[in-house]
Amino acid sequence: MTSVLQEHTSLQPFNTFGIPVYAHFFAEIFSETDIGHILQNDKVKGQPLLILGGGSNVLFTRDYEGLVLKIGIPGISTEQRGDRVLVRAGAGVVWNDLVMYCVQHGFAGVENLSLIPGTVGASPIQNIGAYGVELKDVFHSCQAYEIATGIMKTFDYADCKFGYRDSIFKNEWKGQYIITEVSFQLSTEADVNIQYGAIQAELTNRGITKATIADVSDVVSSIRVSKLPDPSTIGNAGSFFKNPVIERGKFEAMHAKFPELVYYEVAEGLVKLAAGWLIEECGFKGKVVGQTGTWKNQALVLVNHGHATGQEVYSFSEEIIKAVRAKFGVHLEREVNML
Ligand SMILES: Cc1cc2nc3c(=O)[nH]c(=O)nc-3n(C[C@H](O)[C@H](O)[C@H](O)COP(=O)(O)OP(=O)(O)OC[C@H]3O[C@@H](n4cnc5c(N)ncnc54)[C@H](O)[C@@H]3O)c2cc1C
Repeated sequence: MTSVLQEHTSLQPFNTFGIPVYAHFFAEIFSETDIGHILQNDKVKGQPLLILGGGSNVLFTRDYEGLVLKIGIPGISTEQRGDRVLVRAGAGVVWNDLVMYCVQHGFAGVENLSLIPGTVGASPIQNIGAYGVELKDVFHSCQAYEIATGIMKTFDYADCKFGYRDSIFKNEWKGQYIITEVSFQLSTEADVNIQYGAIQAELTNRGITKATIADVSDVVSSIRVSKLPDPSTIGNAGSFFKNPVIERGKFEAMHAKFPELVYYEVAEGLVKLAAGWLIEECGFKGKVVGQTGTWKNQALVLVNHGHATGQEVYSFSEEIIKAVRAKFGVHLEREVNML
């Protein structure tokens, strides 16, 4: 496939919120060389640039007056190293296709991340995580195209400065690189991670005592389907806000006032609060405001009821932030990228 520069392209099919906005310029990229070809086109030189994977972690609040590059670089390859295996995947590979490939080949490590939407290339950007596992736990390295120079670079674990839903690509290096390939270090020994309560409960429910990676993947997938809205039927971008992390002193005071508070111990002196609970306590669960609202089963997920604009969803998210701050004195940070 070759990359073609298009003009005035609808982005509605390319964002899981289903927001109807347009890109001035748009191209899908299938290789590293495609990137150079498109960026050297006189029409787009000097234009703002947006890199898009599956569009499952973005909220468009207006048309994009620049070039949108959708990353479609394919391919998965493996290299066996004793009981470890290095799996390399093109940035455009659908994340869950990679997970299914690993599960089918008996490569353990990503099964808890089953069914997360999006692409491989975006997975290090916010260090995707679910059910007790984060991308950083299996990350080996990534290849990236430096936009300013056109030079390909390799970054290892330490370079990426991973944090909770965070990495260097969202901070110091924001907008500077296009990730073209990611390598994962997985294991051929099935040492599954089933610490997460909901996984254990579902395995017990199914009468499984010695879980395989396929069992874990299947259980995680079915839990997700039961809890989260499917973007193909109702527009959304998963959790809209991060779970706030606060200092223990502040937590103790809050806990005394709100004994039902849902929280997780994260590190010495720090506690993570369940943002969904805070939002629900402010009366937002299942609330519908015009064409937007929160998901009926999970207040952390904002949805498009069919014809929402990005501005409408954004304003609603502001309302939630204000309400949570007023009731709990806690600031909610958006996980979804605002555009
Ligand atoms: C129903 C649902 C459930 C979800 N559940 C989870 C979950 O459990 N855990 C979790 O962590 N996330 C979850 N998400 C969020 C989302 O799936 C992830 O953030 C995913 O990694 C986004 O991938 P994407 O390809 O769609 O990225 P996009 O939304 O296209 O892009 C996200 C950001 O990454 C940048 N980017 C994308 N690709 C590249 C690249 N190749 N190089 C450089 N920059 C790039 C974009 O510019 C943008 O800033 C969920 C989303 C939905 C809709």
